[in-house]
Amino acid sequence: MSPLIVILLVLAVAAVLVVGGAVFVSNQKRGRGPELEPPATGGGVLAPPRPTEAPTEAPPAEPEVAAPPAPVEVEEPPVVVAPPVKPSFRDRLAKARATFAGFLGRSKIDEDTWDELEEALIRADLGVGPATALLDELRAQVKARELETGDQLVEALKAEMKLRLQVDDRSLHLDEGRTNVWLFVGVNGVGKTTTIGKLGKRQTDAGHRVVMAAGDTFRAAAAEQLETWANRAGADLVRGAEGGDPSAIIFDAVESAAAKGADLVLADTAGRLHTKTNLMEELRKVRRVADRDPGHVTEVLLVLDATTGQNGLVQARQFTEATEVTGVVLTKLDGSAKGGIVFAIQTELGIPVKLVGLGETVEDLVDFDPDEFVDALFSA
Ligand code: GDP
Repeated sequence: MSPLIVILLVLAVAAVLVVGGAVFVSNQKRGRGPELEPPATGGGVLAPPRPTEAPTEAPPAEPEVAAPPAPVEVEEPPVVVAPPVKPSFRDRLAKARATFAGFLGRSKIDEDTWDELEEALIRADLGVGPATALLDELRAQVKARELETGDQLVEALKAEMKLRLQVDDRSLHLDEGRTNVWLFVGVNGVGKTTTIGKLGKRQTDAGHRVVMAAGDTFRAAAAEQLETWANRAGADLVRGAEGGDPSAIIFDAVESAAAKGADLVLADTAGRLHTKTNLMEELRKVRRVADRDPGHVTEVLLVLDATTGQNGLVQARQFTEATEVTGVVLTKLDGSAKGGIVFAIQTELGIPVKLVGLGETVEDLVDFDPDEFVDALFSA
């Protein structure tokens, strides 16, 4: 072998050794465990030594990840919105109905019949005046032999009640092209804020642009409550500081409505006041301010809680005197056995009951329908 070949052979062997060593080192690096965590620095606490033994349990096998399927156009199922169910007087007036239930199905009319009828009318809170007037009329019909059986008496009673509840106009007034203001007045807790919320939704659904004014600055939660309703109804809200001046807030709401071209301001008011100011004086002022141009007060709705019965009548007198009430909203009729207050309000004060609350949800504010109401009271 020539020295040249020997040298070439030595070089070739050396090259093989060098490349093999490098591959070995790199494989060693790849095959080693996870990188060591950096030493703990905070507080000089040393990381506990790592266990040198391999974990006894094998780590759970990684689930096989399937390649995501190609996006497929899925047609969204149509959202089925159930039409709002109008609550029926019959279903919601269970308590008031019970007052008259014992009365149906009588065969004859005797003294007991009159006693029980009188008691039922007073229990339903018609008030002594309207109850006596009704009974007098029915006695006259019996005397004239127009009525002979218990069923006939009930039918005559219903007809009389419906007649006495008739009014010429029960509509809510709204002048086109004006900034209408509907004021809601009434003592604390009767349901003013809730009524504004329910009615606001109805008015926006009917195409009106509504601004709600959080004029009940006495009750801490009233503005938040109204805000929730405004969002639900798609109405705007104007609110001020707690304890602030209700007239100022309502005036701001009117200005804001006029600037936006909104045709209806639903204005909440306080049922009590922080200051010593007389509530009725304050409401007079609220009404005056709300009626100042561009504002135009077209409804002052007195909200009464049906469960308070005849007490509502006392409130109605005071509020009417201060604010020229144009209609009554009778709330909580669903929980009341005293629906008879409707008669006292209409016959003694001459104020039409325009709306009634038959529950707490948005659909539960309905137009007052005297025929449906009376039929519900006497339905079996
Ligand atoms: P406000 O102080 O006059 O504003 O009274 P709110 O609007 O806060 O109502 C007082 C309570 O009465 C709330 O819990 C309402 O949900 C409830 N409420 C209002 N209207 C009705 C109704 O028609 N039926 C029933 N069952 N509850 C009602």
